[in-house]
Amino acid sequence: MSEKFWDPKIETMPLSELKNLQLKRLRNIVRYVYDNNKFYHEKLKEVKVSPSNIKSLKDIGKLPFLTKQDLREFYPFGLVCTEIDEIVEVHASSGTTGKPVVGPYTQNDVELWGEVMARALWANGLRKNDVMQNSYGYGLFTGAHGFEKGAQKIGAMVITISSGNTKRQINVMKDFESTALACTPSYSMYMAEVAEEMGFDPVKDFKLKIGCFGAEAWSEEMRNNVEKRWEITAHEHYGLTEIIGPGVVLECRKKKLHVNADHFLTEIIDPNTGETLEAGEEGELVYTTLTKEAFPALRFRTRDLAVYYEEPCECGRTLPIQSRIKGRSDDMMKVKGVIVFPSQIEAALMKVKGVSDNYQIVKTKKGDITSLSVEVEPTEKRYKEGHLDNLEKQAEDEIYSILNLHVPVKAIDPKTIPRSTGKAKRVIER
Ligand SMILES: [Zn+2]
Repeated sequence: MSEKFWDPKIETMPLSELKNLQLKRLRNIVRYVYDNNKFYHEKLKEVKVSPSNIKSLKDIGKLPFLTKQDLREFYPFGLVCTEIDEIVEVHASSGTTGKPVVGPYTQNDVELWGEVMARALWANGLRKNDVMQNSYGYGLFTGAHGFEKGAQKIGAMVITISSGNTKRQINVMKDFESTALACTPSYSMYMAEVAEEMGFDPVKDFKLKIGCFGAEAWSEEMRNNVEKRWEITAHEHYGLTEIIGPGVVLECRKKKLHVNADHFLTEIIDPNTGETLEAGEEGELVYTTLTKEAFPALRFRTRDLAVYYEEPCECGRTLPIQSRIKGRSDDMMKVKGVIVFPSQIEAALMKVKGVSDNYQIVKTKKGDITSLSVEVEPTEKRYKEGHLDNLEKQAEDEIYSILNLHVPVKAIDPKTIPRSTGKAKRVIER
């Protein structure tokens, strides 16, 4: 530990050395799954690859992908590579389409998780004297637990409040003098709204300085709004149940997402052909866990689109960088032949003065034809000024300038869109 880095040796390791470490660990993990799990064994045999065939990092391309479909098929513990007795903790994601995804951890996996989360929170500026209000929902989901483990490893105080009961959140934030808030970005905005209703000033009446946000797609424009609203530095977190939960990356002071590449190996592929792309190209993120015991993932296809870079960062870290997620390929919409991600619409809306952070994209399907419209809540102040047709027109123009697509925008009364204490539902179907 140093003032700048939680793990200086790994975080500033020369790239060539890091790649040697990755190769050594990749060879170990391929051997390990081949020897310890029937499914993996058969999968590798099918493509005629044995562990001894992995001689360079490029050889990872010989291995088959792991998909959500595979996870469903082997639900709940079919991909476990240890004895079931070795598992000390289990998480699961909701599984929006079908069975949940299960994340089992051995004692060492739990340690590893705490370690990568400590790196991430340390990079955000969290220290021993901080008080982290953990407003992610406690339960089967990984989120709250990962943040708790990392913050406690650092020695910070964790308030295990979970999500919901928003007035109580505000009182606790005030009384316990929380300095860091961990939750979804949209929930932090709802909290600010409730704080104001209770007569507080989010900037002046609290001690918050760091936001640890994740579990939701949010634009840079939304990040700016969150930062202004609370006067904090807002950091992004990213992870998946299939890989470890949050902690796959850490965001530095320069707001670059560094991959914890000594434990997670990233590839970028063409989502249509599965072909491996070069660093710097946009494609689907694929991860291999290099050190996990209970459930190692080999080449897991995330459906998340991003760019991956191997270049030095001003923060001093050498760990490779991935861009923020452009969108899940599952969220992608095709409207009149134009590819649309919800985050692009959010970015456009946030540019319009007088638009609040509450909006909804309404998707209408007639046969095979999808059309979109947007409903936004103006801020109270803008609402009182009237002439909302001007606001609608401005928002439509901003969307058009990004997408080259006309999407009608309707201004609706403030506080009509349902608020969420977890993931905000930004796209609805009518
Ligand atoms: Zn950096």
